[in-house]
Amino acid sequence: CQIITATAALFLAVIGILLLVVPTEDVKEPPEFMYGIVLDAGSSHTAIYAGNTGGAARSLEKCMDKAMQEIPKSRHKLTPLYLGATAGMRLLNFKGATILSGQEEGAYGWVTVNYLLENYIKYGFVGQWLSPGRDTVGALDFGGASTQITFETKQTVENKDNLMKLRLYGRDYKIYTQSFLCYGRDQTQGSDHSIVHPCYPAGYSASIKLSSVFDTPCNKRQTPYKPDDDLQIKGTGNYDQCLGNVSRLFSFDSCSYSRCSFDGVFQPNVTGNFMAFSAFFYTHSFLQEATGIRITSPEHLEDAARAVCNMSFQEISNKFQNQESRLKDYCAVSAFVKVLLVSGYGFDYFSFPHVFFQKKAGGTSVGWSLGYMLSLSNLLPAENVLLRKSLRS
Ligand code: AMP
Repeated sequence: CQIITATAALFLAVIGILLLVVPTEDVKEPPEFMYGIVLDAGSSHTAIYAGNTGGAARSLEKCMDKAMQEIPKSRHKLTPLYLGATAGMRLLNFKGATILSGQEEGAYGWVTVNYLLENYIKYGFVGQWLSPGRDTVGALDFGGASTQITFETKQTVENKDNLMKLRLYGRDYKIYTQSFLCYGRDQTQGSDHSIVHPCYPAGYSASIKLSSVFDTPCNKRQTPYKPDDDLQIKGTGNYDQCLGNVSRLFSFDSCSYSRCSFDGVFQPNVTGNFMAFSAFFYTHSFLQEATGIRITSPEHLEDAARAVCNMSFQEISNKFQNQESRLKDYCAVSAFVKVLLVSGYGFDYFSFPHVFFQKKAGGTSVGWSLGYMLSLSNLLPAENVLLRKSLRS
C-alpha cells in the first residue's frame, strides 16, 4: 500500500515546535483513521522557556488549533498527544517534558525510516502481510544541537551504551546507535569567532555579541569576558583553513575500542544503505543546487564544499534570494558535514554512494517523532499479527 501522510510543520514565533499529525487506518476494517500528535520540541528557540511562565503553553495554541482542524471532531477525544524534547532540552536540563535520550532519538529516527520504507512488513500482491526480507536502512540525523547515527550491525557492539535490541513484527534487530550532543548544525562555527573568519564567505561581515559565542551550553567560556562586547567578524571564505578549524572540533586521538568514529566513541564499520535527513538533506541539496555537482562520493562533497566556500556572499545572496539568514553558514556547515561523514563516521568511496540524502520517505518527513508516536501508541507490535495499522494510503 502506498503511504501518504498529512504532516503540518509550523514555526511559531515563540518556540520552534514541529507538529506531526499522522492519520493511520485499519487495513482490513472499513477505513477509520487514527490520529496522534507529537509536539517535537527541538533545539532551536527552546531556550525561550526560561522564566516565561505560561509562555510555552500559549505558544502551542496556534499549533494545536491547526491540529484540531486536521483531525475530525469525532476523533478528538481518542487522539493522544505526546510532547517529546531532544538535544536542546537535554542541554538545558529541562524538566516537565519527556526528554528523549540520545539513544532514543537515534533509535526512533531509525524506526521511522524503516517503517516508512516498509522494511519491517509489507502488504504483498498476494493480499497478505509479508516480511519483505530486505535489509534495513541506517539513519543519519543532523539536527540543530546534535547528530545521530543508527544502523543495524552484525559486528560486536563493544560499548553496551551503543546497543539497542528491538523486536518488531516477530524479528530481532541489533542496532548500533550513537548521538553526539553539541555536534549539531548550530555548533558548526565552533568557538573560533576570530575577527577574520575563513568559514564565512568573502564579503560577509557582521557584528556579534560575545555572549552569543561563549554563553551557550555547548560552548562555555572558562575565563571571564564581557558578554555585551561586540565582535566584528569578516568572512574570507577559505575552504582549507575552514576545514582545519572545523576538524579541530573533532578528536581522533584516542580510542579504547577496536575502532572509533571520533571523540573516543566506538563505532562498527558502516554497512548497507543510509538515509541522511534533516540538516544533512538541507546541506546536500544546497551544495548541489549552488554548484551543479551531483554529490555521490566524498570527493564530490569536498569539491562542492570548496566551491561554496569560494563563493562571495554577494554571489550566494544573488543566487538564493529567499534564504537570507542561512546563507552565511553553508561553508562552515558543509566543511563540518564533510569531516563528520568522511573522517568521523568513515564513509568512503565505496560506502558513500549508499547514503541517500532525503528529507521524506513515502511522502512523510523523516525524524524521530513518527517512530516515537508509533511506539508510544503500541502501533509497533513485537510479534507478527494479522491485523496491521498502516499510514493512510
Ligand atoms: P530540523 O530538521 O528542523 O530540526 O532542523 C535541523 C537544522 O537544520 C536546524 O539547525 C535548522 O535551523 C536547520 N534548517 C531547517 N530548515 C532548513 C533549511 N531549509 N535549510 C537549511 N537549514 C535548515
